[in-house]
Amino acid sequence: AAQPAQLQTSASAVQEVREITRIERIGAHSHIRGLGLDDGLNARQTSHGMVGQLHARRSAGLILEMIREGKIAGRAVLIAGQPGTGKTAIAMGMAQALGQDTPFTAIAGSEIYSLEMSKTEALTQAFRKSIGVVEVQIDRPATASGAKVGKLTLKTTEMETIYDLGQKMIESLTKEKVQAGDVVTIDKASGRISRLGRSFTRARDYDATGGQTKFVQCPEGELQKRKEVVHTVTLHEIDVINSRTQGFLALFSGDTGEIKTEVRDQINSKVAEWREEGKAEIVPGVLFVDEVHMLDIECFSFLNRALESDMAPVLIMATNRGITRIRGTNYQSPHGIPIDLLDRLLIIATHPYKESEVKQILKIRCEEEDVEMSEDALTVLTKIGMETSLRYAIQLITTANLVCRKRKGLEVAVEDVKRVYSLFLDERRSEEYLKEYQQEFMF
Ligand code: ATP
Repeated sequence: AAQPAQLQTSASAVQEVREITRIERIGAHSHIRGLGLDDGLNARQTSHGMVGQLHARRSAGLILEMIREGKIAGRAVLIAGQPGTGKTAIAMGMAQALGQDTPFTAIAGSEIYSLEMSKTEALTQAFRKSIGVVEVQIDRPATASGAKVGKLTLKTTEMETIYDLGQKMIESLTKEKVQAGDVVTIDKASGRISRLGRSFTRARDYDATGGQTKFVQCPEGELQKRKEVVHTVTLHEIDVINSRTQGFLALFSGDTGEIKTEVRDQINSKVAEWREEGKAEIVPGVLFVDEVHMLDIECFSFLNRALESDMAPVLIMATNRGITRIRGTNYQSPHGIPIDLLDRLLIIATHPYKESEVKQILKIRCEEEDVEMSEDALTVLTKIGMETSLRYAIQLITTANLVCRKRKGLEVAVEDVKRVYSLFLDERRSEEYLKEYQQEFMF
């Protein structure tokens, strides 16, 4: 079994995984850059790609503030509102505003049902993807012959090794006379520290090859590992790397399978140890569960329990259902969520958009998709959006643009919008069509 001391994390693996997540987000919500709030946390009418929905955005901003202050780990939020009222957009805005260092995982309620793993395993993985472990910068002044050398900033993902080395390094530094400009070399294998000389006056030419890590003493007396790779590793990433023979490669293939409880227990106790020793901190991130009414009673009870953990992320759920049956039971409840869970939620409501807001959102989407659209066409598209759905109207932008390009037009005109409106059915017309031709479909 993997000894805790061998727990590994991998910088490059994690970074590439981030990339993949980022690419996935380009799509329906790629125009969202944040919540668009001012310093007083008030929502600007249009900002960061966000339009209207001022109350909900302000509420989301307050929650963000609490997340940032670390005040609401283990809390849960429900964004409830009709379809297409920006629930996912708001969650995305929160993720953007939190930045790269805070883990954000988004799943749809239905995703947890698979043949490969149990529901609770899928949820556990989602939870652990949303909990970050970040190494603490060692910021203790080291003294060399009674003189303050400065602070040692170690930023790396190779936590275990580097922390041990960091400690040893300080110890070594306290014995040796070190001045600004010194170059210190650490042999990763033995942890032996030697001084190379004083040829460097600036923190540059840093190299980490051949099992040796050089640290350069900056003029300001600050020791820095040059290649600063600081990021948050998630508990799930540590789980995967330590549980499969192919190690971090499993992160790319997505073939993580079920992770053994022993592995998780071991990692938990190691992380607890790191926290106690002040080597690492937990960053509770955000787990966003869309279509939360798709979860069943077992999942809800799992969530209730998981939220009790002191490492729990902030859980944001979204639903467009009103009073509905809780899956796995014969009981109805608001949003299909059990009352005991509902009771601990902060609920944010979203409301339907005004015509001017729909127009503004469509305009932003045109810009996002690099589509030139005439004012008339935009007005027609807005009308369509009001009568059908915002999402349907957004989809017509791409298709109308294609039609426009086919006729070699320079900007999308009313005729293009009309054409795609007749080509693609929205939900209501699709239903009418089905009713009309019901008998000709298979049952
Ligand atoms: P559903 O209940 O059907 O899941 P939803 O409330 O999650 O819907 P979204 O998916 O967020 O709705 O919104 C539909 C589309 O409109 C998305 O492309 C989204 O980015 C965009 N959108 C919604 N609200 C806003 C807004 N306030 N500002 C900018 N874009 C928005």
